Amino acid sequence: MTAPDSIMRCASCDGFGWFEDGGGGEDCDWCRGVGYVYRDGQGRDRPIPQGDFAALATDLEALELQRLRELGYQGSAKKPWQQAIRKDSKLGRDPYADDK
Ligand SMILES: [Zn+2]
Repeated sequence: MTAPDSIMRCASCDGFGWFEDGGGGEDCDWCRGVGYVYRDGQGRDRPIPQGDFAALATDLEALELQRLRELGYQGSAKKPWQQAIRKDSKLGRDPYADDK
């Protein structure tokens, strides 16, 4: 019996997806710049494949809202690809762009 994968905030970058390195910032290797990872039933984390983003959009948006609230942000959450902070990251691309 294996538990389904859950989506966890990346323990390495704390959901930011990148690190300040004094220069332009650097993508997190642990989550591949996403800020979130899959955690399987054994507690192992692995990066979320880019192809899963569209299906996980609602979950990721909820996690982002929770994270922003913890940071003191009062507004509503933007979808990850609408955030300027992510425009150069893996989530900076609208997964629905192909549908338009
Ligand atoms: Zn990370």
